[in-house]
Amino acid sequence: MEMQTGTDLFNLQGRRALVTGSGQGIGLALAYGLARAGATVVLNDLDEARVRNAAEKMVREGFKAEYAVFDVTKQPAVAEAVDHIEKTFGAIDILINNAGIQRRAPLEDFASENWDAIVNVNLSSVFYVSQAVARHMIPRQKGKIINICSVQSLLARPTIAPYAATKGAVAMLTKGMCTDWAKHGIQANGIAPGYFITELTKPLVENEEFSSWLCKRTPANRWGNVEELTGAAVFLASNASNFVNGQVIYVDGGLTSCV
Ligand code: NAP
Repeated sequence: MEMQTGTDLFNLQGRRALVTGSGQGIGLALAYGLARAGATVVLNDLDEARVRNAAEKMVREGFKAEYAVFDVTKQPAVAEAVDHIEKTFGAIDILINNAGIQRRAPLEDFASENWDAIVNVNLSSVFYVSQAVARHMIPRQKGKIINICSVQSLLARPTIAPYAATKGAVAMLTKGMCTDWAKHGIQANGIAPGYFITELTKPLVENEEFSSWLCKRTPANRWGNVEELTGAAVFLASNASNFVNGQVIYVDGGLTSCV
């Protein structure tokens, strides 16, 4: 096996990464992180204008970016889109399952349509997209899958029990992918963000009481900036992590290390 050293270990030149739900927020920040390390990124989102504008902006900035509009919860559309990307753009070497939604309500009042939506977007999509991509990675005996988990993979909070249930399941699905696919040269790992400022957390950022509680609760004493997730993503997408499999890296300012 050829040994790489130093920054070569993290070089993503010549690799293509599909990042779901990457028209904005964490997904877009992760796409930038991988692109800065040399990868070609394929942005995905539901909103065509949003994802096209984001990809065009990246290209103007000198990065290699493409885009594909599809709904990660629709299995046949996912398989078609993945096949199309493989055929027209090229091999997907790295997949980041990032698309996710939040719905908040006391569990006793939680609407079943919101339960279905959360399970579909946060959990079923990870199965659909990963299976479609893994079917291409397996013959190549090589691939990196990164699942965006959450501190709610470990800890619950009032009004978001369904979200926590899906994120706990994604952490376990990550171990399952490792168990079934490690023998095919695929590494599947998770990144569990703490609290980062994005559209998804807007109601919390705007809630002064929550925000001040969170800063006291987090050893780092602050919210995270989305760029702070990119180091873990580049590590898990690169040769630096070739024997790391089934793990979840918590990028949370210490939140899950302290009560
Ligand atoms: P965000 O700003 O809302 O971005 C998520 C993106 O996914 C949105 O552009 C959204 O589009 C898209 N999306 C939703 N449903 C989709 C579907 N069916 N198919 C394709 N794209 C879809 O959220 P974020 O904060 O960046 O969160 C990204 C991931 O990080 C999520 O998995 C979330 O659970 C996780 N996370 C976030 C935090 C945090 O502090 N922000 C913490 C822990 C984990 P629409 O806007 O059109 O719905």
